[in-house]
Amino acid sequence: MIENHVMNTYSRYDLVFAEGHGPWITDVNGDEYLDFVSGIAVNCLGHAAPQIAEAVAEQSKKLIHISNLYWSPQQIELADRLCQASGFDRVFFCNSGTESNETALKIARKYGKAKGGAEKTKIICMHDSFHGRSLGALSVTGQEKYREAFRPLIGEVYDAVFNDIASVEARMDDRVCAVILEPVQGESGIVPADAEFLKAVRALCEKYDALLIFDEVQCGMGRSGRLFAHQKYGVMPDVCTTAKALGGGFPIGAVLASDKASEFFVPGDHGSTFGGNPLACACGIAVMKELVEKDLLGHVEEMGAYLSGRLKELAEKYDVIEEVRGMGLLIGVQMKEGKKGAAIDEALKQRLLLAGAGNETVRFLPPLNVSREELDEGLKRFEAAVAAL
Ligand SMILES: *Cc1c(COP(=O)(O)O)cnc(C)c1O
Repeated sequence: MIENHVMNTYSRYDLVFAEGHGPWITDVNGDEYLDFVSGIAVNCLGHAAPQIAEAVAEQSKKLIHISNLYWSPQQIELADRLCQASGFDRVFFCNSGTESNETALKIARKYGKAKGGAEKTKIICMHDSFHGRSLGALSVTGQEKYREAFRPLIGEVYDAVFNDIASVEARMDDRVCAVILEPVQGESGIVPADAEFLKAVRALCEKYDALLIFDEVQCGMGRSGRLFAHQKYGVMPDVCTTAKALGGGFPIGAVLASDKASEFFVPGDHGSTFGGNPLACACGIAVMKELVEKDLLGHVEEMGAYLSGRLKELAEKYDVIEEVRGMGLLIGVQMKEGKKGAAIDEALKQRLLLAGAGNETVRFLPPLNVSREELDEGLKRFEAAVAAL
């Protein structure tokens, strides 16, 4: 253990990192690792990406923060780029995934009361979901291991079963103001929704005048091979939350919404001191340019298909791998019972960083601009790790 004064909220590896470049990261002893965690799907352009370094350097010489009492060209431009690329009408900026979901829940409650009166306050969430750690976002996180110690949470939240439309239908009525779900569940093990399920949830939301909220904090911002995973499914939510990769490593979150969903949000309803500051938005603009203008999305599709294909070959060869799931460069390798931790530890010995998730899953989250050669190097190291199990 490294002696320190940081609060004891994480189980960390005894690694202290000093610098990085692309998918490579070096610790304070000078040992270099291949980083396929990317700060948990955050560093979409890799470490020390010149586009992000330049955005930070240039913008910080002009303005870092002005508050939301005033406008900045960067906030207006990023909102414009996000809406242009997604078909949403409005954006609210914040600083994290949790905050973006908190905002979405407040939009839903405001919408519900405006449309259906004081009683239209119920929210339906999914079993095995993850939406963040604040009390609101935690309340709709359908996993008791996160919620239990912090009850009482916000009321009127009902858990349904992901990919089981009957379970959603059974909980729907006119008092429901929103359904929130991840199109690809991330923390619980990279589980993509069935297209039929998403379409049926969309229809139920229409029927009961409830908002459909997609949490794309992890699967959004290009990781799926489209800007947002829901574009792959062809199912448009009313509200879409994002964060992680949006700033290429710089903290920023955003809530995208239709006019229909956001029109009841008026001055005084919500806010964030840091939200959408010029520096964070300059980073977001840099990421959007790469994703949309330079067709990084096409590269993600190609590299994702290659990586998951090669991982499926390993699954054929090694019994310890049960299944490979995912979309684009959001890939989960489900290991045999009890083997997830050992797989990550063995990979670490091969100097390959991988993240765990629920359901005995090991997550591959390389930067979106990863090359085929870098994937090959990672696969070589992962195979050595799996062979050692
Ligand atoms: C990471 C994550 C969050 C929480 O984001 P923070 O930035 O840690 O608050 C919410 N939802 C999903 C799907 C996530 O993956």
